[in-house]
Order: sequence, then structure tokens, then C-alpha cells
Amino acid sequence: MSHHPTEILVAGQWRRGAGAPLDTVDPATGQVLATLHTASAEEVDEAARAAAAAAADPAWRDLLPHQRARLLYRIAELTEEAADELAATQTADTGKTLTETKALALSAAGTFRYLAATLETAEETITPSRGPYVTMSVHEPIGVVGAINPWNSPVASDAQKIAPALAAGNAVLLKPAAWTPLVSLKLGRIITRALTELGLPTALLSVLPGSGRVVGDAVVRHPLVGRIGFTGGTETGRSIAGIAARKLIPASLELGGKSPTIVRADADVEQALAGVMFGIFSSSGQSCIAGSRLFVHASLYESFVGEIVSRVAKLRVGPGTDPDTQVGPLVHANHRDSVAAYVDLARSEGAEVLCGGAAPEGPAYENGAYYLPTVLAGLANDSRTCQEEIFGPVLVVLPYDDEDDLVEQANDSVYGLACGIWTRDHRAAWNLAHRIDAGTVWINTYKQFSASTPFSGMKDSGLGTEKGRDAIRAYQRQKSLYWGTSEAPLPWAN
Ligand code: NAD
Repeated sequence: MSHHPTEILVAGQWRRGAGAPLDTVDPATGQVLATLHTASAEEVDEAARAAAAAAADPAWRDLLPHQRARLLYRIAELTEEAADELAATQTADTGKTLTETKALALSAAGTFRYLAATLETAEETITPSRGPYVTMSVHEPIGVVGAINPWNSPVASDAQKIAPALAAGNAVLLKPAAWTPLVSLKLGRIITRALTELGLPTALLSVLPGSGRVVGDAVVRHPLVGRIGFTGGTETGRSIAGIAARKLIPASLELGGKSPTIVRADADVEQALAGVMFGIFSSSGQSCIAGSRLFVHASLYESFVGEIVSRVAKLRVGPGTDPDTQVGPLVHANHRDSVAAYVDLARSEGAEVLCGGAAPEGPAYENGAYYLPTVLAGLANDSRTCQEEIFGPVLVVLPYDDEDDLVEQANDSVYGLACGIWTRDHRAAWNLAHRIDAGTVWINTYKQFSASTPFSGMKDSGLGTEKGRDAIRAYQRQKSLYWGTSEAPLPWAN
């Protein structure tokens, strides 16, 4: 237990939080990994005030972009060096496989490095002059920003918010999910070390674990917090957006999904099978972009679904620490129960459970939050099972005939996060990709991510964008400068 961090980071100090105690559990074993004390609402206030002072400290505020970039390069380096340790911590806390958590840790390092390079090369604009003046549009830090993340990919989601926020010149209050605070605290140690090495104020980052209701809410409402970066469920995002609207501060919202994957009759079947399975069953389906609704052309529906079912039965379910594991436990027993309840709902809606539909049996699974990869058929797209986000290893399959009807069904969802298209016909892919409401469309691939490519959701999947060059601008305020070039007084003064 002792090698897991239990101190939280408030205003540059590592300490025992003043809030309620929180047990964080290894979902593979049900064992408590660590008991930490969460932040209190008073500590959020303390962190916000110290963050505002740090953001305004000339040691930070006066750094030129290439100087600020040095901090991000150093964080990238330290994150990469600690990748194995970060992966082990995240696997222990989330249940994900080590292969995946190692990739997430390295992707976090890559995000810091990419944004450092972006920062060094970002340009301000001189706009076309329309009078006796030079006009410029420049960007400035907001001050203090809040970053609120879910439990599914903490180290990568943390980097996606902290890196652009620091690159932009802000201070950050990070609120990790209550179930998975450990890796965020480790990343906090890395960032504190980099800040200290470079002689920068350590209060530029606070890591404040706790419940959304107490700590998250205090971050969002705090008068000094001038922007929120939120990833999580749609209803939480909606309520945060309401508070941000009243404060008149920007909020970016990366929310839920129920993403369609389309297998056309002309697909490369081997590729599509692997892609569909990876799209839904990797991360045990606990991914906002999981390809959870599968539409298969009627001409190959029976054979394709039959093959999926036989391959799903062979997937190796086990602890994330076992290198053979493909499907780890779900993040928490409560979440496993909610996934199981969804499969019961599907049964009551008339679904045929083609495989899975239960927790695996045997002593190895006894205390863990496991659930078997599950394939459901026989439901209409307007059933709750096809419309609601399950966030687990549950795939619903539907046949389609006509492409217009397919587009209508694929878009008949409150969500619009991602879509997968498997086809050999590049014109068909082009047309379909443009007709589907989704922030990201993968063609003959799935669940690939790049720090240089913007990520956003349409409809109830979110508002605003993460990643890409403009990520830094999203954490800044824009200002216009007019520089007079004429010596003549303005006419009114004559
Ligand atoms: P959640 O909305 O319950 O919680 C997300 C975060 O918000 C947590 O840190 C939580 O403590 C905090 N929170 C909860 N209530 C709050 C409040 N009133 N004020 C402030 N903060 C509050 O989501 P979750 O169950 O942790 O995560 C799963 C959800 O996240 C899924 O819907 C999934 O699709 C979504 N998600 C989206 C993306 C994306 O990029 N679009 C990525 C990953 C996960």
C-alpha cells in the first residue's frame, strides 16, 4: 500500500487533504490500494488564490514562449522516464492493461512535447490595416483554469488539459476522478519537480482529488477560475456549462458517445473484424469513443457477426498486469454492476445475447470487477440499449441494407463523437464520412489518436476542441492592439 501516493497537492504543498477520506481500490482484486484524504472546499479556495498569485508572478508571467516551452519539454522528459511507474500506477488504479497504460503515459509525454513545440512556433497576427494604424491580434493567459477529468484514461486526459494550459501561461487546478486519483498525483510530483528545477512557482499546479459534488463544484464556481476544461459524462458537462455560462467563462466539454461503426459489403473483412473488436473491447469498452453500435451490411451480416462472436469467446479476460490479458476488469465494482444492469435492460428489451452477458466465473475473477465481452443482437436502433452510453464491453449489432437508411440510423442518436467506416471504396468512404454527425471519423482504422489532430464532439458529445495547434489558444484570451501611425490628431480633437 505504501508506495502509492496519499498526499495531495495544494498551492504547491504536498499534504494530507483536509477533506473526507477516500479509498482507492484495485479493480482486479478489490484490494484497497491507498487511502487518501481529499481536498476540502477551503483547500480549493487556497489553491485558487495561490494559483492566481503564481500566474501573476513575474517569474512565470514574464517568460517568453520559448522559455515557457522549456518547462513543457522537461515535463515530457520526466514523464517519459517515469512511464513504467506511471503505467503500473494507472493499471493498479483503473484495471487497464499495462500495454495500454504504458502507451497512455508515453502519449502524455508526447502531448507535452508537441505543445512545447507548438508554443515555440505559434505566431501572433497582424491584421490588414484599415486606417492610419497597425492592427494586431495577440493572445494572453486567462490566469487560473480548472481541469476536471474522468477515470478512464487519467494520465493522458490530464496531459491534454495541463499541457495547453501551462503552454498558454496559466496556472491549473486539476480535479481527477474520485476512483482514480493516483496517477494524477504522480504526474503532479513530476510537474512539481520540473517547476522547482526551473525556479518557477510550484503553486502553478494543484492536484485536488475528491468528489465532483464537493471539489469539482468548488473549482467550477470559484471566482478566480476563468476557464474550465471538462471531460466526463454529458449530464455533468451540461450542469458545468450552466455554471460557466452564468460566470461568463469559457468551458470546453468532451462528453459521452454511442459511436456507430459501419461495415460495408466491400470491406476488407479481416481488417474490419480486428478493427471492430479493438474499437469496442479494448479498454473493456470504457472509452468515450468506443465503437459500441455496429452496423453491418445485410449481405455479410450473418457471417461477420458469427465470426465476431467466435473471436470474442477467445479474448483473454484477466488482470491488467498479465501481459496476455486483452480485456481487463472494469474500473470499479459499482461500474461493473451498472454495465450488468444495462445488459439486463437489453434482455428486457428483447435482445439476443450472442455471447458474454455475465461476469466470468472462477476463483481468478472472484474479487475483481470483471465482465465478459458481450455482443447483443435483435434490437432496433431506437431501443435504449442502442441509444444510451453503456461505457463497458458491450457491442450492439444491427444489419442495414440501404445507405440512406444507414445514415439516418447512425445519426439518430443524441451523441456525435466518433464513427468508424470499413470499406474498400474510397468514394463511398468520403461521402459517408461527410454525412455522419461525428467529431472524428476513422476510415479503415479505429481509435487512433494524435496530439496534432483536433478532437471534439458534436451534439451531446461536447462543445469545444482539445488537441491540435489551437489547443493553446483555447486556454488564452484574445486581445486586439491598434498602433496609430499618423501624427495628425484624431478629427474630433480638432
Ligand atoms: P462524470 O461526469 O461522472 O465525472 C467526470 C469528472 O467530473 C469527475 O472528476 C467527477 O468527479 C467530476 N464531477 C462530477 N460531478 C461534478 C460537478 N457537479 N461539478 C464538477 N465536477 C463534477 O464522468 P465519469 O463517470 O467519471 O466518466 C465517464 C464519462 O466520461 C463517460 O460519459 C464518457 O463518455 C466520458 N468521457 C468523454 C471523453 C471525451 O473526450 N469525449 C473521454 C473520456 C470519457
